[in-house]
Amino acid sequence: MNAPSRAPVPATGASRAPLVDPFRRAITYLRVSVTDRCDFRCVYCMSENMAFLPKQDLLTLEELDRLCSAFVARGVRKLRLTGGEPLVRRDIMVLFRSLARHLKTGALDELNVTTNGSQLPRYAEELAACGVKRINVSLDTLDPARFRDITRWGDLAKVLAGIDAAQGAGLHVKINAVALKGVNEEEIPSLMEWAHGRGMDLSLIEVMPLGDIEPARIDQYLPLSLVRSRLAPRYTLEDIDYKSGGPASCVRVAETGGRLGFITPLTHNFCEGCNRVRVTCTGTLYMCLGQDDAADLRAPLRASEADDLLHAAIEEAIARKPKGHDFVIDRRTNRPAVARHMSVTGG
Ligand code: SAM
Ligand code: SF4
Repeated sequence: MNAPSRAPVPATGASRAPLVDPFRRAITYLRVSVTDRCDFRCVYCMSENMAFLPKQDLLTLEELDRLCSAFVARGVRKLRLTGGEPLVRRDIMVLFRSLARHLKTGALDELNVTTNGSQLPRYAEELAACGVKRINVSLDTLDPARFRDITRWGDLAKVLAGIDAAQGAGLHVKINAVALKGVNEEEIPSLMEWAHGRGMDLSLIEVMPLGDIEPARIDQYLPLSLVRSRLAPRYTLEDIDYKSGGPASCVRVAETGGRLGFITPLTHNFCEGCNRVRVTCTGTLYMCLGQDDAADLRAPLRASEADDLLHAAIEEAIARKPKGHDFVIDRRTNRPAVARHMSVTGG
């Protein structure tokens, strides 16, 4: 005789409502910082002597999986793992392999990663095998000495080998470059031609006032409106509607055929269509990159094996998602508007 059939147990949160904030924005995009550590020390991101979190404060890979899966059950369709440098977290592929199940069921559209590229020679094939299709690689210069100056500890050759490996594995690579006054500003056209020549989009990022670091931010800040107006006499920049779900305004460059994005949090307000939230490696949920309000998800995660408390905490936090941010560099004190570093919240 057959064993009596049991009612199927719904996947965590399967019957729960999608997350919608008070401004009717559906939360469909989650960025998760899986570590605050990194093998580089980019001058705009970290100080040279960063104090990192004690390992026991970090969510385990299993906890990260539970947390991401809870968001997927609530309507998140796109997941990006970032950091710190996500690919330096030990056994990180265990998490990718596990999250890949949501791609297979169709619950998730995209599983992406933002990386400095240093570990791609090792992991590109495996990422592709997990169903990762797109990756963002941060690269601000093609000059080895300048690369070393910007990243302090990085090796350009390794990153370029990583990009080769990623493209070889069939991953779609987008390059992110922070535009830095007096550092790489003259190089932006050649960086763009290089990226487009290899079939990669380029997004330029304005320095954001996050975290206390040594060089004065006002010195680094290069408005992208200026970069754009310098490119305009040389290139035909055609506005396009293309949106990668991010806060970039985008043009197609007629001469190269490639896309160029401008991420301008300081000069342009992109909050209206914000569909994203961020979680740190300690399980703190930030509803807005530019505000300090946050919710602790680690305590409810650890308080019970069921996810009810976790879902309640997520709902309560999303109900507080602010309408927008208010980034400013305080020109009198030169203090950042938000004290935490980008490597904590995840870029
Ligand atoms: N380590 C990975 C990387 O570099 O791609 C992922 C984390 S990093 C924090 C994510 C992105 O944030 C990178 O593209 C980096 O250039 C950018 N970033 C870091 N600090 C920034 C800042 N203060 N202003 C603007 N962008 C920043
Ligand atoms: Fe590391 Fe990325 Fe920050 Fe550079 S930008 S220090 S690679 S986390």
